[in-house]
Amino acid sequence: MNVHKKLFSISLVLIACFFLSLLYITNQENAFPTTTEVCGVPLLIIDAGHGGEDGGAIAIDGTYEKDINLQIALQLQEICSLFGMDSIMIRTTDTDLADHTLPTIRKRKISDINARMEILNSNPHAVYVGIHQNHYKDARICGLQVFYSNGTDISRQIADSVQVYTSSSLQPDNTRKTKAAGEDIYLLHHAKLPAIMVECGFISNEEECRLLKEPAYGTKISLCIAGGLMNYYTTERIA
Ligand SMILES: [Zn+2]
Repeated sequence: MNVHKKLFSISLVLIACFFLSLLYITNQENAFPTTTEVCGVPLLIIDAGHGGEDGGAIAIDGTYEKDINLQIALQLQEICSLFGMDSIMIRTTDTDLADHTLPTIRKRKISDINARMEILNSNPHAVYVGIHQNHYKDARICGLQVFYSNGTDISRQIADSVQVYTSSSLQPDNTRKTKAAGEDIYLLHHAKLPAIMVECGFISNEEECRLLKEPAYGTKISLCIAGGLMNYYTTERIA
C-alpha cells in the first residue's frame, strides 16, 4: 500500500468515525439525525448521464458510457446514504427521461434534457451532481475532471473540493483544474442551484476504462466525490 492509498484509507476511517460519533451523540438526545445535522450537505440530485437510446460516448472496448455512469451513480448514492446524505436519482436503470412519442432522436434528446432540467428546477435547495465519462482522440489522456455551473460561486468551490480531494487521495498525478461549463453542457449552463459534473475518467484510455468498469474503483471515485462534498460543507463553508 503506497502513501497515498494509506492517507486515503485513514481519511475515510476518520470521516466515518466523525459521522458515526455525530450519529451517536444525536441519538443520545433521542432525535433522529437529519441530513443537515449529520453532515451539512443538502439534498443531492445524482444524475447518471445519458441512458436508454442515448449511450453517450463509446469506450475503447465498446462499452457505453451510460452503463459506467449508472454503475458509479448507484455506488455514489449508496456511499452518500452511508454518510447521511439524502439523494434523488435521475435514473436507476438503463432508461432516459425522453418523451418516446416524439418522432426524431433529436427531439427525444431535447425532451430528455428538459425533463432532467425540470427535476433541478423543482429542487432549488439541492446540489446537482452529474456523472459522466470523458473521451478523447489521444488515448493516453486520463484522469478525473470536474466541471461546474457558473450560476453560483458555490458550484466552483464544490468542484474544486472534489477535484482536490481526488488528486490528494486517489490520483496523485492528476493536475487537472476544474472548468466552468460552457453552453454545450446544457444542464450546468442553465442550472440555478449549485451544480457540478464529474467526468470520472477517460474511457478512451484502455487502462482507465478497465478501472472505471471495476466496482471497487467506482467505489473509490464515489468516495472522492462524497468526500469532496463533505469537505466543502463541513470545512470550507465554516472557514
Ligand atoms: Zn457523457
